[in-house]
Amino acid sequence: MMTLELKEDETSIHKAAAILREGGLVAFPTETVYGLGGDAFNPDSARRIYAAKGRPSDNPLIVHIADMESLDRLCPRIPERLHLLADAFWPGPLTMIVEKRPELPSETTGGLDTVAIRMPHHETALALIREAGGYIAAPSANASGRPSPTLASHVWEDLNGRIDAILDGGEVGIGVESTIVDLSGEVPTILRPGYITEEMLSRVLGEVSVDPTLMHPDATARPKAPGMRYRHYAPKGSMQLVEGEAADVTAEINRRIRESSLRCGVLCTDETKALYEGGLVRSLGNRNDLSSIALQLYRALREFDKEGIEEIYSESFPAEGFGQAVMNRMLKAAGYRILKTGGNKQ
Ligand code: AMP
Ligand code: MG
Repeated sequence: MMTLELKEDETSIHKAAAILREGGLVAFPTETVYGLGGDAFNPDSARRIYAAKGRPSDNPLIVHIADMESLDRLCPRIPERLHLLADAFWPGPLTMIVEKRPELPSETTGGLDTVAIRMPHHETALALIREAGGYIAAPSANASGRPSPTLASHVWEDLNGRIDAILDGGEVGIGVESTIVDLSGEVPTILRPGYITEEMLSRVLGEVSVDPTLMHPDATARPKAPGMRYRHYAPKGSMQLVEGEAADVTAEINRRIRESSLRCGVLCTDETKALYEGGLVRSLGNRNDLSSIALQLYRALREFDKEGIEEIYSESFPAEGFGQAVMNRMLKAAGYRILKTGGNKQ
């Protein structure tokens, strides 16, 4: 299949919407990462999405909408909590899980009786959703297991020839996937951390819990978002997170690179960049600017892949606020491998 390259103009959005209405697949920009869209009410579109990504078909898609009226066709009872969170954070990087209507194909929801819904904060995405009929099912537009795309060229790398079109909207704004909160149970539960933090959600809802498997892999517990079970966000090289005092971290990484015979890469910050003595050194930005760290992470991992980096050492960040999302993605990319440095090893 020939993959069309489209710009963000009106004619292109028109063309992309027509492709979606006919059951085709279009990758499109959102404020979080690029999505791979299909018509949410067309089971064939969902099947095509799974096939194009090489994604297990029990891993449900997020349904993207452009207005609140669209909720009625998706869920039979709209919880009050959804309204509260929508008022506060939609359009925006928040996905909410609620009971689904039987009319929504189970292919779209990976066989679950709930549906994940988001209204993205992105003009092109909203225009495309409206023109395509109101409901675009979309996971991230990467090949399954690879880092999510933050540039159209990333989508191209993974999916050229496997989807109908890519709408190029330049670089995304946030760079990690949406926060997912499950509203289908008694206590709202964060299944995936993102830009909308636990604190922001509890300011609106009161009690919010966090799926305990998010920051620690636990062989006995199954993450509630099926997607969080799979190896994910992974670079080709093997990655380790290094924790400890800044000076210990740089010393340990320098020592390991010196002793390694493999091609090494370092993910670091502007403050420490000059301290590394070998390997391909990539700063993610200022240590205190988590927005930059988040936006650069997947891009840097893809750059390392291109450079044939076999071993990646990364500095780590405090898992607080938006840092929880950043560390969750880093931990997953590293397969939860952490090196503790300094005298105080625990
Ligand atoms: P992606 O947009 O590629 O990150 O994929 C969508 C994410 O949403 C995956 O992690 C899914 O497991 C999760 N998800 C979608 N629908 C549901 C649902 N009904 N219940 C739990 N998780 C969901
Ligand atoms: Mg994904």
